[in-house]
Parts: sequence; C-alpha cells; structure tokens
Amino acid sequence: MGAIEVPVLIVGGGGCGLSASVFLSDQGVDHLLVERHPDTSRVPKAHYLNQRTMEIFRQHGVADDVLAEAAPLEKFGKVRWQTTLAGDGPLDRRLIHEMDAFGGGALRETYAAAGPVLPAKLPQMWLEPILRRHAEDRNPGRILFHHELTSFSDEGDHVLAEVRDLETGEITTVKAQYLLGADGGRTVGAEVGIEMQGPPGLVNTTTVYFSADLSEWWEEGTLITHFLSPEDPDLSSNLIEMGPRWGKECEQWGLHFAPGPAGRWNNENVVPRIRELLRIPDLEVTVHKVTDWIVHAHLADRYRVGRVLIAGDAAHRQPPAVGLGLNTGIQDAHNLAWKLAAVLGGRASDSLIDSYEAERRPVGRENVDWAVSAAVHHQAVIDAIGAGHNIPAGRRKQRLEAYFDPSPLGDTVRARALEIFHTHRGGCQSLDMEVGFHYEDGALVPDGSEPPARVPMRNEHRPTSRPGHRLPHAWITAGDRRLSTLDLTGRCDFTLITGPEGTPWCEAAARVAEKFSVPIATVRIGAGCEYADAEGGWEAVRGITDAGALLVRPDQHVAWRSTGAGQDAEQTLAQVFAAVLDR
Ligand SMILES: Cc1cc2nc3c(=O)[nH]c(=O)nc-3n(C[C@H](O)[C@H](O)[C@H](O)COP(=O)(O)OP(=O)(O)OC[C@H]3O[C@@H](n4cnc5c(N)ncnc54)[C@H](O)[C@@H]3O)c2cc1C
Repeated sequence: MGAIEVPVLIVGGGGCGLSASVFLSDQGVDHLLVERHPDTSRVPKAHYLNQRTMEIFRQHGVADDVLAEAAPLEKFGKVRWQTTLAGDGPLDRRLIHEMDAFGGGALRETYAAAGPVLPAKLPQMWLEPILRRHAEDRNPGRILFHHELTSFSDEGDHVLAEVRDLETGEITTVKAQYLLGADGGRTVGAEVGIEMQGPPGLVNTTTVYFSADLSEWWEEGTLITHFLSPEDPDLSSNLIEMGPRWGKECEQWGLHFAPGPAGRWNNENVVPRIRELLRIPDLEVTVHKVTDWIVHAHLADRYRVGRVLIAGDAAHRQPPAVGLGLNTGIQDAHNLAWKLAAVLGGRASDSLIDSYEAERRPVGRENVDWAVSAAVHHQAVIDAIGAGHNIPAGRRKQRLEAYFDPSPLGDTVRARALEIFHTHRGGCQSLDMEVGFHYEDGALVPDGSEPPARVPMRNEHRPTSRPGHRLPHAWITAGDRRLSTLDLTGRCDFTLITGPEGTPWCEAAARVAEKFSVPIATVRIGAGCEYADAEGGWEAVRGITDAGALLVRPDQHVAWRSTGAGQDAEQTLAQVFAAVLDR
C-alpha cells in the first residue's frame, strides 16, 4: 500500500473536478485528482458554456482551446419550435417559432458589450478532454483516472482517504488538508451528513445519443430544436447537435423524449423510435447510448463540513433548461480555488473557506430555482400553441391547423402565442443570470450601497463595481494592445485598480502586500496612466472617481471599493485585507 501527502484531494474528474484542478494548479496548489472512470465522459451531456464560464476559461488560458472545437454563436444562437423534422404531410416541417437565444442573433451586441468573450457550445464529451489535458500538463502524474475514492475520514487537522487503482487493485492512502467532492454527489457529501434538499424528481426523460446524417432535413443554427408533434404529445421531442462538427455537418445528436417505463428503450429497440420521432422511416442510425434520467431540483444543505467541501452537481442539481448545471459547478470551483490557495499558503485563516458556502450556496439556490421556473414555463409555451398534454388527442391537429391558418383568426392565434413565446426570454436570454450573480456576504467589505435593481426576466445586465459583483468589463488599451478590464486580473493575485489620481492607493498597496505577504497587482486606468480608457467604456461602469480604487479578488469579483481618495490609504487597505482574508 502506498501513501501520498498532498494539500488537496479532488474526487471526481468531470467538468467541475477537472476545472478545479486547473484553477488550483494556476494558484500554485499541489493536489491529487481521482476519477473512477478510465476516461472522460463518453456521453455529450452539458453543451452550453455560458459567458461567465468562458471568461473564467479565458483567465486561465483554456478559452482558445475550447473555442477551437466549439460551435460558434452563429451556429447555435437560436431556439426553435417546429412541428416535425421531416415528413411531407401538410403539418410536417412547419416552423412554429424561433427566437434568438444565448447571445445569438440580435442579442449578440448586448452580450459582446457585457464581456470579452461570447458563450460557446461544446458538449462535455469534447470539453472534458481539453480540461483533462490542461489539468495533466499543469500537474503531471497527479490526475489519476481509473482510480476510485473508497473511503475517507476527517481527522480534524487533515483528511485521510483511501484510493484504489481500479486497474491493479492497489490501494493508496492519501493524507490531505482538504478534500473536494466534485463527484456529482455520488460518494462524498452523504458520507459527511450533507443532505440534498428539494422535491423528489421533477420529470423523467430519455436521452438517446446517436450518429446519423440529418443534413437533408436539419435547419442549422440552434442550441435546441423542439419538435411538437401534431398528433401525439408522446411523439414530441427535442434535438441537439453534439458535434464534433456543427450545423449541417453535424454527425452526432442528442434526442430527448418522454420515456416509457424505465428501461424500456435499449440500443436496438430505440432505432425505430428515433425514426418515428424524426419521421424518417429509413434513416441510418448508429446508437451510442440510451439513458433514462430524472430531472432534479436539489441543493445541498451545506457546502462544507470540516475539511470536506463539495462543488458542482454534488452541491446542486437542476433541470438542464437554461444550461446552468455545469456552468454553476465550474464557477463554484473558481470561487473556491483562490481561497484554498490563500489558506494553504498561510495568507488567510481557515475561516476564509467558510465564505465559499456563504457566497456560492445562495447562487446555487438561485440557479436551481431559475432552472425550475424556466422548465415549468417551457410547458406554458407548448400549451400556448395547443400542443400540450392538456389538449385532447383529437383536437391537437385542429389547434395546430388554426395556428398556421392564413385567416384573420389565424393572425390572432399566432399573436396570442407570440406573446407567450416572448416570455420565454427568461429561459434563453437571461444574460444577467450568466454574468450578474454576485455575493452579498463573504470575503468582501460591503460599502453600504444597494445593488442595481435586477430586471425580473434577467435579460438585461447592469454592470456595477459594487463589492461582491464581478468586475465590470470594458475595453481598454495599453499602447496598441486592446484588452478587457477582466484581463487585468491575475490568476492568483489581487488587483487594485485606480485612476489617474490613485497613486497613493498604489503606494499603499505595495506596503500592504509586503505586510500580508499577499501579491497585489496595481493598475491605473485613465489619462496619462499605463492603461487608457480610449473608448470611454471604463468611465461609464467603474463606479469610482479618478482618485478612487477597486480591489479585485483573483476570481474577478470586487472585494472592496473606495469611490474617492481615502484618509489613510495604507491603514484602510490593511483593514480591508484583514477582513477579506479573515486575519
Ligand atoms: C442530458 C443532459 C444535458 C445537460 N445539459 C447541460 C447544459 O447544457 N449546461 C449545463 O451547464 N449543464 C447541463 N447538464 C448538467 C451537467 O451535465 C452536469 O451539471 C455536470 O456533468 C456536472 O459536472 P460535475 O463535474 O459536477 O459532475 P459529474 O459530471 O457527474 O462528474 C462527477 C465525477 O465524479 C466521479 N466520481 C464519483 N464518485 C467517485 C469516487 N468515489 N471516486 C472517483 N471518482 C468518482 C464520477 O465518475 C464522475 O465522473 C446536462 C445534464 C444532462 C444529463
């Protein structure tokens, strides 16, 4: 039996665990990751990487590799509802409605103004190998696939765990300062008494992942296309491109539909069902996997117990409706990594890690609730055009015929439905859910101001430098280089941003950095400074004067701000660091 001592043990090599590994490596934290599967996910699962996740990937040098494989916005920036994919009946292949979504079409400008990088679409099956490569390059020999956590105990000042090599059967004892359960909730949380709170499963779904050439029928450009069968709600489904190429060239697909009794479908008998749902009787299909799964809306009652932390699906499980699941997990890891680094590096007290739950659990709550509300609302859209289960079978066709009727009454039917479709923006245009989440309580110093009012549909984001919020993005220049304010933040440093009259803050920061042994980068933006606000975007969002300052955490959230010059800059900053790092 071997033995390893390491500061952090990550359990789980899915999207959350692998991201945590990359972020910890970039923070200089030695760690071991164990994943029981021999390889990364073989099924596509999550496919939408929201704008905040892409910003985080940009900060950590992962975004370019993701973008090289991902579908660009013009290939996925819509949601579409149509009757059927194929068929030649009068109601077949009819477009019911389509709307710009997730930053596509007319939303593009708004998303482009909110951040330096746009959302992307890359199913987990393709994303995880990229993350694994980045994790292994940074931490060679310490990313152990085909290794399983079999037991662990919190010994008070460390965690003792046993890991089994599933190829050789060899057991290794791991002594770690902290254990991060990024295990999808399969092992770690329940072991330390964490309860997942929420109603029993919401909906059962079957997903079939298959290869087929659909180029003759497929209208490209959507993240998801819903088919609403004119005859039978049980023949309704939705179809998603799974790559590895996009649009008409897409080879692999995810088809979701209402399940029969659990286990009804297998790789063979699902083939006629796929043909029936897509209305292509002779379609050549290769089925890779059929999964029956239950949509949950669960949130862990705690994110930390002693030296054990949880993140990702281990902490929250939600309907996939708005693509928040994996994104929330990656953002959990980003929040936690710098805190673990500060504590393990002796720069902060262990209680800084408590702020992880204080900050992330309310976001988890909000995201789970938002996903549930969007999923429920989706049904309202289906009912609005008369394709829901509540319409008797014999009247469905009639209702859809009325929807397409060119008469004045048809105009009314469509106008009514359009108003309902418009409300779906809360499900697929909610930019503020992607980049607007913020922390009220945690590793920050509130300044007494109120947060900007949020638009109920969250389809508008109001950037602010208020403590707890993500640093607003603006394009600035250094010589002939154009960069985002978010690019000013290092992967492990705090960053003090000030204006042309902020030199006293910068000088004080240098002294405080030495006193607290905390790296603080200082930057000045404005006339005569090293960074120019050439386009005026920074002045519009900075929320401070030329003499004020913002302290930005390594996770790009503002920790503190002073709108103007302070009385005693050094003492003020020292108090801020003592509070943020809980020293
Ligand atoms: C059909 C579908 C579509 C989805 N679409 C989206 C979407 O568009 N956007 C989105 O954000 N989310 C989406 N999701 C949700 C998303 O897939 C999950 O939120 C995501 O996989 C969670 O990542 P994770 O790393 O937290 O957990 P997981 O992906 O579940 O990874 C946990 C890992 O831990 C490993 N593990 C568990 N126990 C142990 C142990 N004892 N020892 C070693 N390893 C262990 C497991 O093998 C697993 O690989 C979708 C989900 C499904 C099913």
